Amino acid sequence: MSFTSHDAAASTDWAHVAADLAPIACDTGERETRRKSRDYYWFSPLLKAEIDDWRADLIATPADLAELETLVAYCVAHRLPITVRGAGTGNYGQCMPRHGGVVVDLTRLDRVLSIGEGTFRAQGGIRMYDLEQELNRTGQELRFFPSTWRSATLGGFIAGGTTGCGAIGHGTLHTPGNVLALKILTAGDTPTLIELTGAEAQAAVHAYGTNGIIVEAELALAPLGRWHDRIYALPDLGAAMDLADRIGRDRTLAKKQLAVVDAAVIPLVRPLAETVPAGSALVLAMIGEDSLASADAAANELGGSVAFARAPGEKTGLVPAIYEMCWNHTTLHAIGRDKSISYLQCGFPADYRPVVLAVAAELGDEMPMHLEFATIDGELVCFGIPLLRFTSAERLAQIHAILRSHGCQVFNPHTYVLENGGMQVADPQQLAFRRTSDPHGLFNPGKMPGWDVPDAA
Ligand SMILES: Cc1cc2nc3c(=O)[nH]c(=O)nc-3n(C[C@H](O)[C@H](O)[C@H](O)COP(=O)(O)OP(=O)(O)OC[C@H]3O[C@@H](n4cnc5c(N)ncnc54)[C@H](O)[C@@H]3O)c2cc1C
Repeated sequence: MSFTSHDAAASTDWAHVAADLAPIACDTGERETRRKSRDYYWFSPLLKAEIDDWRADLIATPADLAELETLVAYCVAHRLPITVRGAGTGNYGQCMPRHGGVVVDLTRLDRVLSIGEGTFRAQGGIRMYDLEQELNRTGQELRFFPSTWRSATLGGFIAGGTTGCGAIGHGTLHTPGNVLALKILTAGDTPTLIELTGAEAQAAVHAYGTNGIIVEAELALAPLGRWHDRIYALPDLGAAMDLADRIGRDRTLAKKQLAVVDAAVIPLVRPLAETVPAGSALVLAMIGEDSLASADAAANELGGSVAFARAPGEKTGLVPAIYEMCWNHTTLHAIGRDKSISYLQCGFPADYRPVVLAVAAELGDEMPMHLEFATIDGELVCFGIPLLRFTSAERLAQIHAILRSHGCQVFNPHTYVLENGGMQVADPQQLAFRRTSDPHGLFNPGKMPGWDVPDAA
């Protein structure tokens, strides 16, 4: 039988490793290895049961790129698993070490390297919120960011996320022109820095750090906007979708965030429950200052009204930033109120309105509806992140089947396996890159079974 990184992790003297790696900051203590081996996997009751005890043997926090290169070279020489961690806000056990080994905390690689006209380059460990403050000083802003950006890192978002606030203007990390270049540290026999540009960079996007460490990223920027928070209350889900559709498709109307939640979500999200009328369906939006009048008028025409308004720079108070009630923050609020809640992720067909209504009618209160909108290739796209009153794995499978029977694409958030989350097969570009960037299968082993223990093959 061949020797694998999993065997190496189990038989390693970790105090010895920490001594070898000095002066790189290393921690093998119980508390820190547990704390830094977790993300928001517990949104899924299935993952909570399955992966709760995954634990790193050593947390390494390199101070700079040189220390990171030394660390990776050491792990390659000793065939030790390497799992990168940004802020640990991922949802599916993405940064949790399936086979123990070294978790690399990248948050000290946090420098902005350059800001140009329409682009920037920064290190992978920078917090996105901090990055945005520097970008804003140049009159520019991130095209989109995850709702967790106050703690999430740039590299963690690129390797673990998809899109977020800003999707309605600029799509996702996969939309051409958003991710311009990534500098990747590989785990070949001699760890090497490789620059991936344009479409090539997609090899490391949403790859869970299985095929390299993103040490630098260059992304496109948008001009800084003046975004107003708006919550529109509409008579029902259909009317809320009509308003979102109208705002979403109107190219003259500037918007940064566009989501719909049905009335059943309101009691589960405390800031909404205390602010908006019960029984309404809501559109949660961030609208450009010059477009407010059009958006408000559209809401009125559809029988709705402005339930909450806030100008840029106004204090948040009881109601957090709009995006902190959208994306997976909706789920976070709901779990805070009702521990039986979990969630689903799906893509609706282009003609989404009748499908959303049919699914909502069929699943009712078991699946309070939450929709997020993006513009991809010039088309309005509707994603579902509905809440789920979870009962069992069997029922979850039935609900996934129901969604598929309505023509929805299911992105299963109840699995830690990359291939099982979205396309159901390994992404050929990610896999091909991993063959060269990680020949020994050391990066985040267990997440991409298509290339997990190549030494054993
Ligand atoms: C409440 C909540 C709301 C969320 N909202 C959104 C949202 O709006 N949009 C969205 O896309 N996601 C969202 N997420 C998921 C997650 O927060 C984002 O993907 C976030 O950007 C992850 O960043 P992080 O630094 O915490 O990454 P981590 O969780 O630390 O890591 C994520 C993955 O990337 C890998 N990784 C980390 N850094 C690097 C690196 N430098 N190089 C290579 N691999 C790396 C890790 O190994 C792991 O596989 C949400 C999650 C929660 C809990």
